Parts: sequence; structure tokens; C-alpha cells
Amino acid sequence: MAELEILRVPVLNDNYVWLVHDNESGETLVVDPAVAEPVLAAAGAQGWAISQIWNTHWHGDHIGGNAGIVAATGAKVTAPAAELSRIPDVDRPVGEGDRVRIGAHEALVLSVPAHTAGHVAYHFADDAVVFVGDTMFAMGCGRLFEGTAEQMYTNMRRFEAMPDETRVYCAHEYTLSNGVFAVRAEPDNEAMTARLAQVEAMRARGEATVPTTIAAEKATNPFLRAGSVAELARRRAEKDKG
Ligand code: ZN
Ligand code: FE
Repeated sequence: MAELEILRVPVLNDNYVWLVHDNESGETLVVDPAVAEPVLAAAGAQGWAISQIWNTHWHGDHIGGNAGIVAATGAKVTAPAAELSRIPDVDRPVGEGDRVRIGAHEALVLSVPAHTAGHVAYHFADDAVVFVGDTMFAMGCGRLFEGTAEQMYTNMRRFEAMPDETRVYCAHEYTLSNGVFAVRAEPDNEAMTARLAQVEAMRARGEATVPTTIAAEKATNPFLRAGSVAELARRRAEKDKG
């Protein structure tokens, strides 16, 4: 099976929309389209026709482009069944254990509540790729708007169990502020200090720091590394203070 081509479309302040193209079937998927126009333009520039939209959760900066993309392409929308009341016009409601496909590439749907109550991730195990939305970020995790630290702790265990080389596609460029906090949380962690310096240099050059990998997050993510629910909760509360 040929490798999926994954293209980053930076939109709004700090959102990343992901275009995923499968050469064999010619199918193109978009994950979490915050907006329609720049995503349609980016796909058009590649000669790709979008046939599917996958949403991780109901927030506007993840579904705002659904209607425009559907109107332009007829794409089918896959989204969390638990958030159907908040996401219009879903064709395929999904939850834990469901399998969704682009061409012959199959992703397992993981229920990862905490940022929102019905948040899902899409894990292409054979491709070593996971789309995590706003659940985990490079060196960070999503805010606990509709869930608990216990749920987020469980989510982190699931990500941690994935193979090290798994590429993690999150939906925001938050790495610099996350890295500053990470070094505060674990001042003696040399991997964190080194990564923060690297991230500072990349951001100064205007470069994206996403995707990340499970290996990098195991070494430098203070939420994945939190040793207990209480420690994760404490770190999340401290980060929320800014
Ligand atoms: Zn969100
Ligand atoms: Fe978001």
C-alpha cells in the first residue's frame, strides 16, 4: 500500500487543517476543516478532489468549513456520534472501535473525551499516523472543557501505547507556549529544554512544529508524562493560569 500524502493547511490564527491523499484510490480526505476556501484552494493546487471530511469534535474551528466543502465537492462527513446535536449534516456518525477508510487505508476511531465530551481521534495503525484534534498537542494537551483530568490521563495512556514512530497530527500550532510551560513543569528535563530551543528557532523562521511523534511526546510532553491523574490535573490547572 502506498504511503498517504498528508498536507498541512495553516488557517486562522494557529489552526492546522490536514489534507490526506491516497494515490491509489485518488481519494482525498480533510481532517477538521476550520474554514472552506483555503482548504479547497490547497486541494485544488494539488489536483486533489475532496471526497471526505472527518471531524474530531464540534468546536467551530474544526467544523466551520464543513458546509462550504460539502457544497463545493459533495464530500461525505464523518464525525463523533456523541456530538451529532452540535455538528450539522453528518453522514457517518462514529465512536470507539469504528473503522473508517480512505481508499484501502483504514483508521480506527478512538473515543478520547475531555476537551469535549465526544471527542474522537483517528488512528491509521498501519500507516503509523494518528489525528488527535485538540486532545494532545506537541508538548501539550487540550483544555478540559467538557471532561476530567482522569479522562485526559486515560487518553494519554492510549497515545503512549502507540508505536514510537507514530506521527501525531494535532490541530493547532501551540508548541512554543506549551514548551515554555513544559520546561517550567520539569526544569531538569534536558530533552524538554533542548526541544524548546529547537521550537523557538523553528518558530522564529516561521516553520511549523507539527506533526510530532509519540517518541517525542513521551520524552517532552508534561501531560503525557504526568505520573498520576492528580499530577496531570495540577499541571493542566497551572497551564490554564498562563
Ligand atoms: Zn477545540
Ligand atoms: Fe481547536
